[in-house]
Amino acid sequence: MEIKPENYIEKIVREELDSLYKRDTTICKCPNCYQDIMTLTLNNLPAMYVSSDIGHIMTMFNLSKDQLQAQVLVELLKAIEKVRQNPRH
Ligand SMILES: [Zn+2]
Repeated sequence: MEIKPENYIEKIVREELDSLYKRDTTICKCPNCYQDIMTLTLNNLPAMYVSSDIGHIMTMFNLSKDQLQAQVLVELLKAIEKVRQNPRH
């Protein structure tokens, strides 16, 4: 069986960005800005590749999803500010 690890952080970033888009309509939703926000945010966060048992991984790193989300949100807001000042669209 082929194991396809996915970056768990990327998944959280995507979720958080989606909910930010819903809460703040001033954030540009064009594909360029979306891509830039994702890239900038992910560059400032450690990657966490997991294949299956996320609960086990979180315990190993001594992390809760809340803590991860909070960290992701901080980096997302920084990235959004940067993209806002220098948009590619
Ligand atoms: Zn844009």
